[in-house]
Amino acid sequence: AKDAGRNVIRFFDPVMQTAIENRAALENDLHTALEERQFELFYQIQVDRDGRAEGAEVLLRWRHPQRGLVSPAQFIPLAEDTGLIVPIGEWVLDTVCAQIAKWQGEQRNLVIAVNVSAKQFRQSNFVELVQQIIQRHQVSPALLKLELTESLVLDNIQDTIDKMKVLKAFGVSFSMDDFGTGYSSLSYLKQLPLDQIKIDQSFVRDIATDKTDLVMVKTIVDLGVNFEMDVIAEGVESEVQLGLLKQCGCSRFQGYLFSKPVPVEAFELLIKGDTVG
Ligand code: C2E
Ligand code: CA
Ligand code: CA
Ligand code: CA
Repeated sequence: AKDAGRNVIRFFDPVMQTAIENRAALENDLHTALEERQFELFYQIQVDRDGRAEGAEVLLRWRHPQRGLVSPAQFIPLAEDTGLIVPIGEWVLDTVCAQIAKWQGEQRNLVIAVNVSAKQFRQSNFVELVQQIIQRHQVSPALLKLELTESLVLDNIQDTIDKMKVLKAFGVSFSMDDFGTGYSSLSYLKQLPLDQIKIDQSFVRDIATDKTDLVMVKTIVDLGVNFEMDVIAEGVESEVQLGLLKQCGCSRFQGYLFSKPVPVEAFELLIKGDTVG
């Protein structure tokens, strides 16, 4: 027939099928990944205007026994859906604080930024958990920075403010991740006890060629300055981008130009002699 094949619902799409099976297999493996010690933390250096190390962002890696390194973009959403992000996030905080304690003992005071997922943050015991981990490792709370995304913050603004205020009073600092990509509004920004906003890498990428991105960056930096927050740019890959970011008044930088996220041993080599106590 002339129109055969049109308007036919395909029940079997091999590409889709593979994706579903893949997801199910990954999810299955994710359940045992923690006990099998398959997670690792990579550190990506953050520098000031003089290029000196200020701290690092911690980025989770899953070293899968068959697949090799699985990207967080692949497994974090899965971990969120299954709730596994809660124990995984706790492991991250615990491991980071153990590392901070070690560096603190060596008079190396690096501020370490940790990504917090929505499900983790919404746990009723999140604040107590963070406090307990900090106390257990006897680290200075000022050396821990929590990165929250706009969507997390806005999802339940009152709960967010309540939790942030307690942790902030405890000494922990906060950075607003991926800033500019969500429904940013000035009214909530001033209610949040933020120390830093992080310009999303999508604005940094084309800053040299896209005038609107440059304007966006300048606007975000001015906003940060007016609200007395420091402003960090992520995804900085070139000197040209760095120069423009500096012209905009940006004070902190992170990106491949300085280093990719690396295992802790490589990170320690990177910062050797570059930090003051
Ligand atoms: P994010 O927090 O926005 O992290 C920045 C991402 O940009 C990281 O990807 C980092 O490796 C990458 N990146 C850094 N510098 C550059 C650069 O110069 N150019 C480019 N193109 N990319 C750069 P990664 O490590 O794959 O992490 C992806 C996302 O996974 C993170 O995005 C974060 O949302 C999430 N994630 C990572 N670790 C954790 C964690 O411990 N807990 C939670 N809840 N989420 C995490
Ligand atoms: Ca982040
Ligand atoms: Ca980000
Ligand atoms: Ca753009």
